[in-house]
Amino acid sequence: MRIAIIGAGLVGLAAAAGLSRQGVQVEVFERSGQEPPTGAGISLFPNSRRAMHALGLGEGFDRLPHGPLPGIRTAMRRRDGRIRFSAPAARDRGVRMFHRNALREFLLDSCAGVTFHWGVTASVTDDGDRLRRAQLTLGDGTTSSWDLVIAADGLRSRTRSRLGLDPGLRYAGYTAWRGVTAVPIDTAGTAGEDWAGEQRFGTVPLEDGRVYWFAVSSRPVGETAASQGLASEKDAVRREFSGWYPTVRHLLEATPDDAVLRHDIHDLARPLRVFHRGRVALAGDAAHAMTPDLGQGAGAGFEDAAALSTLIAGVRRDGADVIALLERYTALRARKAARVLLASRLMGKVAQRRRR
Ligand SMILES: Cc1cc2nc3c(=O)[nH]c(=O)nc-3n(C[C@H](O)[C@H](O)[C@H](O)COP(=O)(O)OP(=O)(O)OC[C@H]3O[C@@H](n4cnc5c(N)ncnc54)[C@H](O)[C@@H]3O)c2cc1C
Repeated sequence: MRIAIIGAGLVGLAAAAGLSRQGVQVEVFERSGQEPPTGAGISLFPNSRRAMHALGLGEGFDRLPHGPLPGIRTAMRRRDGRIRFSAPAARDRGVRMFHRNALREFLLDSCAGVTFHWGVTASVTDDGDRLRRAQLTLGDGTTSSWDLVIAADGLRSRTRSRLGLDPGLRYAGYTAWRGVTAVPIDTAGTAGEDWAGEQRFGTVPLEDGRVYWFAVSSRPVGETAASQGLASEKDAVRREFSGWYPTVRHLLEATPDDAVLRHDIHDLARPLRVFHRGRVALAGDAAHAMTPDLGQGAGAGFEDAAALSTLIAGVRRDGADVIALLERYTALRARKAARVLLASRLMGKVAQRRRR
């Protein structure tokens, strides 16, 4: 069986790593180069660990160094730094925090036997059917046919539109800045997310003492530092959170200017009912882009990869009924992902409510 994956984000890589263990031929097409993107941090919950085990990557995943370090408490603070409440560390509940690039490197290293095409844009030009394989057309006009295409091409997936499944995106009303400090910072033994006004600030100590932080604020869609007359997004987030407690300022100061990311938060306007057409499956954000409020976007994508990998393990042979396999994939994943997408949206609405 020949499988093409569009996109080498975390989900495309997880699918490639899992499938490479099945003895099927896997090729990945990624429009960016191989160098790691500017990465922030990521929190993964126990469903991600289960998916990694289902993908055959569990042993390596369990060995990956991760935060929070033992002894750290979860705390929610007020704008002035006073603690609203605190609880035992998230580590005790199976939450793992990573630098995204460490996770990416682990997944890439797990892709033995996978052929990567970096800097290559791929488009589905025929989704295929029971008799006809799916067709990809690359940026240089060459075409190739595949038993199965997994489109893990992200929030703005062109494959989703190509398959006629795109419900459009919804702006959630808030923007998120993220960064990782260049040096270890003392967070007074706590990790957590603080809520005040229409703002949130998250503090996530990583295993090497550096801190992943995120800052969320209700802002007009499309606003940027440049459109506000500021030199950098670091200036924008510094200004936005200038009234917050000193650790927030220290974290922002300790982050290099070019390491601050900003994204307006979008999710799918409506959850998809199907995750496939013909021989093409959507996975990850392409299938269920959700707000980050439950920290489940990548986790849900790893569940997609695990479901596909498990289903393919059952039918590896050439001539397998890929269409029936993808119907089972939709049945396994679409409803569950829709629930998480809607729960995440609700969480975002509650969290961004104006409060003191
Ligand atoms: C602020 C914020 C915080 C978050 N925090 C968390 C968290 O703590 N935990 C969590 O689980 N999730 C979190 N998420 C969500 C998570 O980042 C995403 O769900 C996840 O990264 C999606 O991975 P993906 O591989 O599906 O898509 P992407 O990472 O977007 O990858 C898609 C890839 O496809 C490539 N591509 C696109 N089109 C083509 C094409 N035509 N040809 C070739 N390549 C193409 C792109 O270049 C890209 O590399 C957060 C998101 C945000 C915005």
